[in-house]
Amino acid sequence: MPIDATQPYDDQNIFAKILRDEIPSNRVYEDDYAIAFHDIAPVAPTHILVIPRGSYVSWDDFSARASDAEIAGFIRAVGTVARDAGLVAPGYRLLANTGAQSGQEVPHLHVHIFAGRRLGPMLA
Ligand code: IMP
Repeated sequence: MPIDATQPYDDQNIFAKILRDEIPSNRVYEDDYAIAFHDIAPVAPTHILVIPRGSYVSWDDFSARASDAEIAGFIRAVGTVARDAGLVAPGYRLLANTGAQSGQEVPHLHVHIFAGRRLGPMLA
């Protein structure tokens, strides 16, 4: 069910529970600003989600409210995850759905990393 990106943060969302280790995930990375784990329903051979540790509903919420340190730390984490996974040479795609029409389903900001096959010109 797509979410309303203008809603307040819900700390019972599934990624909040993953952050608190209340439910399991296949974690591949963590630092002070972000964690990354494999998507439970991958649509590419490599499909990793990177999420900030802070409580942000969407890219919009994050870019409006997060500190410069959180923004820099998160963007660096996304790059590090992709680099550590060996994705730079073959290439990869980033995606952050924001709000209902994008299809965002989990109301905690997440950046998808897709890789491992030739990706089409658009995901739409
Ligand atoms: P969205 O459509 O951009 O919000 O993407 C949400 C993503 O979260 C989808 O690709 C789901 O497969 C993924 N997902 C949902 N629940 C879990 C989980 O418990 N672990 C890992 N990935 C999940």
